Amino acid sequence: MKDMDVNSEWLIEDAACPMCGGTEAGETPYSQPPFKVKRCKSCTLNFLSPRLAAEEANRFYQSDTYFSGGDGVSGYDDYAVQEQSLRATFRKLLDTIEAQCATGGSLLEVGCGPGYLLDEARDQFDTLSGVELSASAAKSARQRTSARIYLSIDEIEDAPAFDCIVATHVIEHIYEPVAFVESLAKRLKPGGSVILAAPHMGSIFRRIMGRHWPSFKYPEHVSFFDEKTLPDLFRRAGLDVVERVPYPHVFPLSLVLAKFGLRGPRWTDRINVTLPATTISFRAQHRSNG
Ligand SMILES: [Zn+2]
Repeated sequence: MKDMDVNSEWLIEDAACPMCGGTEAGETPYSQPPFKVKRCKSCTLNFLSPRLAAEEANRFYQSDTYFSGGDGVSGYDDYAVQEQSLRATFRKLLDTIEAQCATGGSLLEVGCGPGYLLDEARDQFDTLSGVELSASAAKSARQRTSARIYLSIDEIEDAPAFDCIVATHVIEHIYEPVAFVESLAKRLKPGGSVILAAPHMGSIFRRIMGRHWPSFKYPEHVSFFDEKTLPDLFRRAGLDVVERVPYPHVFPLSLVLAKFGLRGPRWTDRINVTLPATTISFRAQHRSNG
């Protein structure tokens, strides 16, 4: 795990539970001072408190260096190196969504980065749209795909226009997750699907790796979902979970070795490894009446 330089000028805040607002939370063994993972005594969500103040966090995602890891703290070491494995991951996800009869029509991807998922999705949807806070990543996505890319979800008309809305590895960054999912629900057509995917706090990898679990990514990840709390989030936003979405994640072998503190030879960049349970994902729809 990469060591983080704590910037003493950062604004730090104590947080109530981001999902239920509960103020009673227990300690967990996981921390990287000044940040701590706590567990809500009311809804059981694991969340970061203290955490970066929201205005500091927004700066991360809007910065042009987020997807190239340029500031050495946030973002990805080299997102482009992972392109092939990310595309393979998204290919599997899109095939799963197709098997669950949730493809076709209009797709919105929130947090689309440089547009790999949208690019892979072009044969399975009629129209493609994306939201990306980083202007440089949004520009890459526009160049890579024919998709309309927005810099904020607030730029999208507040009307039910989308058949499928996907957000992978976004919700764990969001400070107000219920309001976020409500904003997706407002833009979802009747019969359409919202698919959220997040690092799986209940996974075997978290249990084995403990505090070295890569998804304890301080300070960016502020909530840690599992098979109970992710469906709970949908319910609180007025959506009903339809089914779990299997989400095998493909990684370069070199990256998997690096997470265990090992440096693989160059050829391990080109070997893909599929890990079955690093990510938890569910598909939800509007609540049916009656
Ligand atoms: Zn809670």
